[in-house]
Amino acid sequence: MATPDIGTDPSEARQVLHRVFGYDSFRGSQQDVIEHVVAGGDALVLMPTGGGKSLCYQIPALVRAGVGVVVSPLIALMQDQVDALRNVGVRAGFLNSTQNPDERSMVESEFLAGELDLLYLAPERLRLESTMRLLDRGKVSLFAIDEAHCVSQWGHDFRPDYLALSALHERWPDVPRIALTATATEATHAEIATRLNLKEARHFVASFDRPNIQYRIEPKNEPKRQLLDLLKTEHAGDAGIVYCLSRASVEKTAEFLVQNGIPALPYHAGLDSRVRATNQSRFLREDGLVMVATIAFGMGIDKPDVRFVAHLDLPKSVEGYYQETGRAGRDGLPSTAWLAYGLQDVVQQRKMIDTSEGDQAHRRMLGMHLDAMLALCETVDCRRTRLLAYFGQQGEPCGNCDTCLSPPESWDGTVPAQKLLSTVVRLQNERRQKFGAGQLIDILLGKKTAKVIQHDHDSLTVFGIGTDLREAEWRGVVRQLLAQGLLAVEGDYGTLVLTEASAEVLSRRREVMLRREPEKARAARPAKASKAAAVVDLPTEAVPVFERLRAWRGAVAKEQGVPAYVVFHDATLRQIATLEPSTLAELGTVNGVGENKLAKYGQGILDTLAE
Ligand code: ADP
Ligand code: ZN
Repeated sequence: MATPDIGTDPSEARQVLHRVFGYDSFRGSQQDVIEHVVAGGDALVLMPTGGGKSLCYQIPALVRAGVGVVVSPLIALMQDQVDALRNVGVRAGFLNSTQNPDERSMVESEFLAGELDLLYLAPERLRLESTMRLLDRGKVSLFAIDEAHCVSQWGHDFRPDYLALSALHERWPDVPRIALTATATEATHAEIATRLNLKEARHFVASFDRPNIQYRIEPKNEPKRQLLDLLKTEHAGDAGIVYCLSRASVEKTAEFLVQNGIPALPYHAGLDSRVRATNQSRFLREDGLVMVATIAFGMGIDKPDVRFVAHLDLPKSVEGYYQETGRAGRDGLPSTAWLAYGLQDVVQQRKMIDTSEGDQAHRRMLGMHLDAMLALCETVDCRRTRLLAYFGQQGEPCGNCDTCLSPPESWDGTVPAQKLLSTVVRLQNERRQKFGAGQLIDILLGKKTAKVIQHDHDSLTVFGIGTDLREAEWRGVVRQLLAQGLLAVEGDYGTLVLTEASAEVLSRRREVMLRREPEKARAARPAKASKAAAVVDLPTEAVPVFERLRAWRGAVAKEQGVPAYVVFHDATLRQIATLEPSTLAELGTVNGVGENKLAKYGQGILDTLAE
């Protein structure tokens, strides 16, 4: 641990929390981190998305003398971040390539004159000798390195710039550094510490649990319909993100939602950069928009009121899945993480791995990531416990995931597995043929389709031996055997072949336990027909008040050209709607109402309440 270089009053941080941000108390390890950095120590902070990382460097920057320099790769979001800070009265600025020389030199002189509390920089800018010289001429209070996992991720766009950050310590040995990330496997954690030269840093590892997010994974039947059902019954009027694997399905899904009356926008790397920027900015600014996107969307998006994250395709790793779903419910209000997953996902992803670039070791790693994701999908245990275990943390069954709410049964699928595997064996041995899941299931069900007749498959001894299961159940069996590595996919047509482990099942040396698919996935929460989740749990009489406040907020945000949440979070408006304060002093006690916002918006709120 670096030796603290200045003495400070710990209550100063608390005063800033209250006065500037309007919050009563620190969350989790925020206070420890802040005290450590204020005292001049280096820190490595691992906190889930929405855990409250920003305050961990913003408050020390306000308490320590000088300007806090924040390294963030997301230049498209810097303007919003700075606007949000200015709105609470923090003197923030940024330097990036979107500015013209005049704008840049203005920020530079503010920095040199000590008129800034926080300065946001993209990592590639910090590498420039001119930027380093600028920093030398002013006073830097700390370096905050946001999204620090960029330093470790193989093939990450920002990686070279992040690697260069290890030099900060040599040039400014006395300036504390705080690296932050929401990615937290042991390996990433260790790599960040080494690569960023944070040997002396104290590590703060928060719990990765996000209790307000309800995790649900259901079998994919008609994915778009299932999605629509979720949005209509549980998330009408809510903002949310829908992730799809391909650009084409992003476009199609967005169109489908719009046709069905849901305001949705597409986002993927193939869109013109202006369209992308507009869609992102609308999503942040307007209430209740749905963003349909590839994983190119979301990093650094700190919209607090994203009420759901839906995945229409299987994510490639648990880490990615957790980051993506973590974008829901940063404000701590109930939110949903929903994933639809099916046989085709497994087939497709295995194929993608087989044909991916990179060496054998890389492909093996991709395979391991996929296996972990599949294990999460097929588990009969609490999803959250599984997720936390993946990050090396323990948890109790949570009561707020689909398996806790309606526990799935597991059943002995050894016999069906044997039937399926022996069909694969027969085709291979007797006919030198390989087929995909569809044909295998038709054979098991004894269906005389054109393709069955063409290949004379109705003469196989296994023809029709599987009529005890329905087609959907057979698909579940195939999917789970693939997930368990008892069956493998090969080639371009998704043909199924045996694995080494298949033999153990065929020779009865291994039992196969499977998860039973519910008849129809039950809605885990009682359907709150067409009521936005943001309104749920408000006393009935407060609902119209909340809606009025929301409308007021929308108008104010529009007028000021900032996202609605920069004015106030939903959580704050809900508290105001419930409390109905009649004086400014009373309004000032609400969580999220700091001095600056009280002065700026207080009267507007009181007038709206009095209407
Ligand atoms: P992260 O960067 O870790 O994803 P943020 O810093 O964006 O998370 O914080 C998530 C949300 O929680 C923000 O909306 C923030 O205003 C709020 N928040 C953070 N700390 C506190 C606190 N101590 N009390 C109340 N709200 C907080
Ligand atoms: Zn659970």
